[in-house]
Amino acid sequence: MPTFDLLVAGAGGGPSEANLSGYLLKAHDKAWSDGIIGLEAGSGLGALKRILKEKPDLLSETPAEPGPTASQLHSYIRTYLITHPHLDHILSLILLAGSLDGDRKSIRGSLQCLRGIDTIFKPGRVWPNLASWEPRDPDDLYLYDPLPEEEGVYTPLHGGLSVSMLPLNHGPVHPSSAFFLKHDASEREFLFFGDVEPDHLAAKALNLDVWRIAVPKIVEDKLDTIFIECSWPTGRRDSFLYGHLSPPHLIHELENLAKAVVAARLGVSAGAGVLTLTSGRRRASSNASPERKRLKSTEEFDIAQDLLGSLTGLRIYIIHCKEDMQEKYEGRPMHEVISEQVRALMEERGLGATILAVEQGDLIRA
Ligand SMILES: [Zn+2]
Ligand SMILES: [Zn+2]
Repeated sequence: MPTFDLLVAGAGGGPSEANLSGYLLKAHDKAWSDGIIGLEAGSGLGALKRILKEKPDLLSETPAEPGPTASQLHSYIRTYLITHPHLDHILSLILLAGSLDGDRKSIRGSLQCLRGIDTIFKPGRVWPNLASWEPRDPDDLYLYDPLPEEEGVYTPLHGGLSVSMLPLNHGPVHPSSAFFLKHDASEREFLFFGDVEPDHLAAKALNLDVWRIAVPKIVEDKLDTIFIECSWPTGRRDSFLYGHLSPPHLIHELENLAKAVVAARLGVSAGAGVLTLTSGRRRASSNASPERKRLKSTEEFDIAQDLLGSLTGLRIYIIHCKEDMQEKYEGRPMHEVISEQVRALMEERGLGATILAVEQGDLIRA
């Protein structure tokens, strides 16, 4: 039984304006009309109109009942959750601001993210000022409502869901966010990454913090779905990543997750550096606590062997793949090319996670 429904209005990373990050989210046990969370707002109304024209039955519960239209879906949105204010993540929210319908919609994210969005609205030069920080203002203005950036704090959203936000690196001056989305009744969660760069290229390893928090949820079987970007294909030089991941970097991040999962299952601390890779062997570090020493004395094993299958049961959805402007891949969609590259590396490492390509128009049940 799935917990979440995500309608993919767009999953690309640009530059085409037709397919940009935008997901409509609800609890599986609720109706779309009960209230939708707009998870990112790159592609919106136009993309949804096209998707529902191509797949008219996508959202219908029974053959006799037509599902909601694109305009209705937009009127059901109660909250936008935005990872960072780059235009490819907020474009539809801005374009729709003059045509808001339904209850007042809030824009939620870090304070810095909301201030970034406000620079588009407030001076009134780029777009009329159609948002405010004041809860008493009328429904036709978006309400900025910052989320706490505090580990373990969940903020209730509409439709029986809540969110916890953590900061991410996305280039030196561009912070981004990760969201843990929780279904309150079942306590099941999924993890959604905004644009993110590899930890080892960043000044501070923020991805490790996200993994550390995800691990107990994975081990306790509360979280089995991760959406994470992989903007570039394999072969892209580090100096041209611009705050994004490519398949080898993503696999490296997932290996860090795998190590933390294995450590948690062994009952040792999952802190960075506890498990170190030495010439193909994994050992407990020498400055170990008694717990870690016990691990060292009784268990030493081959890293490849030990991490084998450690992420089995985890589904990794690859998002934000950038279009192939040089046409190196013979017109193949980049979400397929990049997912295939990640899948091959995942199989090579034997970590066991399932790698899935996300396509515009998908209805994902997680
Ligand atoms: Zn982006
Ligand atoms: Zn970005």
